[in-house]
Amino acid sequence: IRILGIEGTAWAASAALFDAETDDVVIETDAYQPESGGIHPREASEHMHDAIPEVVGRVLEHARETHDGPPSEPPVDAVAFSRGPGLGPCLRVVGTAARALSQVLEVPLVGVNHMVAHLEIGRHTSGFDSPVCLNASGANAHLLAYRNGRYRVLGETMDTGVGNSIDKFTRHVGWSHPGGPKVEEAAKDGEYVDLPYVVKGMDFSFSGIMSAAKQRYDGVSASGGSSDSSDGGVPVEDICYSLQENIFGMLTEVAERALSLTGSDELVLGGGVGRNARLREMLAEMCAQRGADFHAPEPRFLGDNAGMIAVLGAKMYAAGDTLALEESRVDPNFRPDQVPVTWRGRAER
Ligand code: ATP
Repeated sequence: IRILGIEGTAWAASAALFDAETDDVVIETDAYQPESGGIHPREASEHMHDAIPEVVGRVLEHARETHDGPPSEPPVDAVAFSRGPGLGPCLRVVGTAARALSQVLEVPLVGVNHMVAHLEIGRHTSGFDSPVCLNASGANAHLLAYRNGRYRVLGETMDTGVGNSIDKFTRHVGWSHPGGPKVEEAAKDGEYVDLPYVVKGMDFSFSGIMSAAKQRYDGVSASGGSSDSSDGGVPVEDICYSLQENIFGMLTEVAERALSLTGSDELVLGGGVGRNARLREMLAEMCAQRGADFHAPEPRFLGDNAGMIAVLGAKMYAAGDTLALEESRVDPNFRPDQVPVTWRGRAER
């Protein structure tokens, strides 16, 4: 099976070819870089409009060159695309491109849930059977585990996604998007200062810690008014270090609780924040302490990428889980627990 995957939920205009026989994944990505501030939905969709034809063109060319069937046959078996969740204007560009390609190539269309793809790529590259998954991405943060035909959301953010929260702080500081890698770098020279830590049951909240981080950077105490130090705020390195310790500590605590609740001894990490070495270190340490296995996919599979869409697309296609054109509309609020899991073996259900 060879699948063309297309991703474009927010910033990554990405296309990929997955060959299930060789397990090869070729990914072409063109990232949207805001000139200032964060991701602007209209600008991001204009980027999709320009970049999707380019990345798809390159991947299709590669698919044609490596296709060993007759030239009259399509070079892929299906077109898989991210249906959501994501920014509506971006999703609509990607959905239109995928529908057009499936018609031109005369192959089926597969609609992939982007969050489930973040999870399944880790399951695919680890070979784990039934892991708990921590999705730590820009617009989301949740713990998922499979039960009775669906991926269940065991815990999630009560407000913003984890990466977006970090990016809001770095915008405040005046750093360019994306902020996560800059926080990771600055944290290397930091020391711990007190910031909120909010876990409620299986859920976490990032808005309070981010407001506190901004206030401490500005030199305003949480009670208002008084200054943290004579020259203004707390050093940005200390805030970055403390943000990482608390935010990743919160994610690790809930991930451990999810392992305990499900009885699973496998954890996979997904999403762009998963590129952070400190987060991976905390999760690996927690897993080692409880005798669980931990897996983080290679970096190209962590941030948004069409590779994960093509890989899950192949599993769905093999299970006959394709979409009729008239049912293929995108869904900006597509939750992972809305997806009937058709591709896992009967024994796993
Ligand atoms: P979603 O997948 O939820 O739709 P998204 O498309 O914004 O969200 P990803 O591509 O998975 O998300 O991740 C992007 C986020 O990852 C950004 O917020 C960025 O700051 C963060 N990020 C990238 N590298 C690092 C890092 N090394 N440390 C922390 N955060 C990081």
